[in-house]
Amino acid sequence: MTSTLPSSITGQLTPVSRRIRERLENAGVPFLANDNIADHLNEGELEQLEIEVAGKVRELLRSLVIDIDNDHNTEETAERVARMYLHEVFKGRYHEQPKIASFPNVKKLDEIYTVGPISVRSACSHHLVPILGNCWIGIKPGERVIGLSKFSRVADWVFSRPHIQEEAVMILADEIERLCEPQGLAILVKAQHYCMKWRGVKEPQTSMVNSIVRGDFRHDPSLKAEFFELVKQQESLLIN
Ligand SMILES: [Zn+2]
Repeated sequence: MTSTLPSSITGQLTPVSRRIRERLENAGVPFLANDNIADHLNEGELEQLEIEVAGKVRELLRSLVIDIDNDHNTEETAERVARMYLHEVFKGRYHEQPKIASFPNVKKLDEIYTVGPISVRSACSHHLVPILGNCWIGIKPGERVIGLSKFSRVADWVFSRPHIQEEAVMILADEIERLCEPQGLAILVKAQHYCMKWRGVKEPQTSMVNSIVRGDFRHDPSLKAEFFELVKQQESLLIN
C-alpha cells in the first residue's frame, strides 16, 4: 500500500540531515560551518549521515562527469570523502570535545607560559580547501590549570571544522577560557591558505597571521610583548 502522506510526516524518506536541521532550528541552535552540533545528534545518526553524504558526493562526481562506475580510482571516493569529512577534517563539528580535566592551581602559579607550535589543520569555509599552519598559546594561569597536551587536543577539535581564520582563533580562545579560566590568554596563528596557494591568485608563500589577547595580556602591554617574544624564541627553535 502506498502512503499518501508526505515523507516529512511519515519520516520514511526524510534525509537524516533534514531531521537534524529541523531539530536544530526548533531548538534555536546555530549550525554554521564552524559550530559543533554533537550534542544534538541522536544515537546512530552520524552513521546515517555518513551514508547520506557519500550518496551526495557520488552525485557530485557524476555531475563532474566522472565515470565512477568504470573508473577504478574513484570507485569508492564518495565513501572515503564522507568518512573524511565527518570523522577527520570536520570532526570538530560532529564529535564531542575530547575530555579535558582541569586541576586547581594549588601553587597559585601566576607566571606566563606559552605552548607551541601546535599544528593548525583546518579548511576554509569559502572553498573547503586546507588551511595549514601553526598556533601558539600564552597563558597567565588563574584558579585552574590544564595539562600542556590538552591545548593541542582542544585546538585540533576547534580547527577541524570549516573556518575563517579570525573566527577560528576566537572560538579556540572561548574554549580555553571555559576550560581553565586563565587570568590572561594570548593566541597567535600563522597559517597558509590553500585557496590562495592552489587556486585564485596562486601565491605559494603568502601566510596569514592573526592574534587575540584577553585578560591581563590585553591590559598589560609588557605582558603582551613578552608573549610575542616567547613565540619568537620558540619559532627560532623550529627546524626548517
Ligand atoms: Zn578559501
